[in-house]
Amino acid sequence: SNTVKDKTANGIVLSGLRKDYGTGSLAVDGVDIDIAPGEFMTFLGPSGSGKTTTLNMIAGFEEVTSGSVVIADSDVSTQPAHKRDLGMVFQSYALFPHLTVEQNIAFPLKERKVAKSEISRRVAEALELVHLGDYGKRYPRELSGGQQQRVALARAVVFRPRALLLDEPLGALDRKLRASLQLEIRRMHRELGLTCVFVTHDQEEALFLSDRIAVFNKGKIEQLGTPSDLYNSPKTLFVAQFLGDSNVFTGVRSGATFQSGGQTWALASTEGPSEGHLIVRPEHVEVHPADALPAAGHNATTATVESSVCLGTYHRLELRFPDGTAGLAMAPARARDSAPAEGTEVVVSWSIADQCLVP
Ligand code: ADP
Ligand code: MG
Repeated sequence: SNTVKDKTANGIVLSGLRKDYGTGSLAVDGVDIDIAPGEFMTFLGPSGSGKTTTLNMIAGFEEVTSGSVVIADSDVSTQPAHKRDLGMVFQSYALFPHLTVEQNIAFPLKERKVAKSEISRRVAEALELVHLGDYGKRYPRELSGGQQQRVALARAVVFRPRALLLDEPLGALDRKLRASLQLEIRRMHRELGLTCVFVTHDQEEALFLSDRIAVFNKGKIEQLGTPSDLYNSPKTLFVAQFLGDSNVFTGVRSGATFQSGGQTWALASTEGPSEGHLIVRPEHVEVHPADALPAAGHNATTATVESSVCLGTYHRLELRFPDGTAGLAMAPARARDSAPAEGTEVVVSWSIADQCLVP
């Protein structure tokens, strides 16, 4: 059923958003984000980085210290939460235990004085949306955690909110349920065309769900971009290390060369910080015998294989570089190859096009 699709999605614009709890450091320290109508935006970052506080300022559960929240071109910064017309889903399911599934989902419609016939139509539709058509008469305690979270999702969208805010909604579920709920959320977002703001500290979840991701660090946005922007072109060491694994070579740049641990490598450009980190993703590292010469357009170094594990499609090699830094290679495993054994000296190389230099 995609009959809920008649709702026009709304954009959310955050400008200079700050939150001071009076603790000596700002919980949110100047956040600017322009969330497009219908976009799936994820706030990703470690615990304490300001994601929930930012979401709560959008929702109206926290006052803004300064800055503004604009939804669909109107400034809601001082509006109470219930007037903002936003759907919310939290980690704890927060269902009413004494109400059935249907009554839970009907609740926001009753609050809004929607006509009875319309309520039953919309509740049925919302139950279909989350694939719980047969569960309307049950009580929350008669449902699994995943089913309860589906009910919470249905309740959050049944009144056709202007946007849906989700704060670590899958945090309490086990891995398998998380994966299936991630699919559900993705499908629901597509069917409803609803603007979604999703908070998580799980990078894989963020990569899977999002149109764009805002990476939070210490109350600020470290980088904002599509999953592939962030993975392939991290702008900072923090982003590179928070999203995926990386090999990190620390050193200095002069012109289009980079020196690190006594080695000199080529850079694609003469621009960039004069000191920084060269980032190479593990799947871009090619592993060769110790006497191999690097191909044109590649940088190379020697390394020792510290552990070697076949993961089916990949050999996962933990490496030690000559300067003592640890590294990682994910080399495609072909049936006839055997992975280099632990303790082997190898040459590893990567294309200059696949590395990136960050401050
Ligand atoms: P996240 O959701 O990214 O884990 P939060 O937004 O919850 O981070 O917290 C950001 C910072 O603000 C943290 O340092 C946290 O301790 C602090 N903080 C959050 N809520 C309050 C509060 N009510 N009073 C004081 N400090 C708070
Ligand atoms: Mg939080």
